[in-house]
Amino acid sequence: MLRRHIRTLLSLVMLASFISVGTAMTAGSAQAASCYTWNRTLREGTSGEDVRQLQIRVAGYPGYGGVISIDGQYGPATKAAVTRFQSAYGLSADGIAGPNTFSKIYGLQKADCTPAHFTYAEMNRCNSDWSGGAVSAAAAKANALQQMWKLEALRHALGDAPLSTSSGFRSYSCNSAVGGASNSNHLYGRGIDLIGSPSYCTIVKQARYHGFNEILGPGYPNHSTHAHLGSQSGRFWSASQCGI
Ligand code: ZN
Repeated sequence: MLRRHIRTLLSLVMLASFISVGTAMTAGSAQAASCYTWNRTLREGTSGEDVRQLQIRVAGYPGYGGVISIDGQYGPATKAAVTRFQSAYGLSADGIAGPNTFSKIYGLQKADCTPAHFTYAEMNRCNSDWSGGAVSAAAAKANALQQMWKLEALRHALGDAPLSTSSGFRSYSCNSAVGGASNSNHLYGRGIDLIGSPSYCTIVKQARYHGFNEILGPGYPNHSTHAHLGSQSGRFWSASQCGI
């Protein structure tokens, strides 16, 4: 009798946990929970890891020539970037990151935190472990994640046009094999080469609005067959055939 009660109790507990898992998934938080979940509204003046995670997702919205600091401090530049992100996706644009903004981000990100239309695999055609570059493997991979969110913003601004990458992170040996520059952004996981369509001039011109302060394209030596986007401390844009 007691044993039967325990078995009934056990099956109730199992049923309850099954229901709660099911509820969490239908609430649409499965993607969020497996990557990163925000638990409070963020606004100018807040700080912390949740702000830093937000900055990574909106770093593609700094405005023309801008670069967002991924520093965990929600200052005016972050507020402006959140406002542009909200406008880009038709949300109420108040620069405050609340449930609607997070919901849009959850919809855009995959379980590994990469944005919907880009993958770690395409950002690293060199080796499987991100080793051998100018920074640690973890740093190179983190840099690549930041660049993918900028690419996602660029893609959206180009009318959700598919973008084709041909090169991302490179170890020193991969970089020298393709004749890359000796201190190339590719060695840091920050360099991205784009091929195909839209035109390279269309890409490099629009990229100026999305947090890339290294932009090389047609007219710059060895860049007639791809557009190169990167990030570094200062701005260097050169694509003379595109008027840049
Ligand atoms: Zn490149």
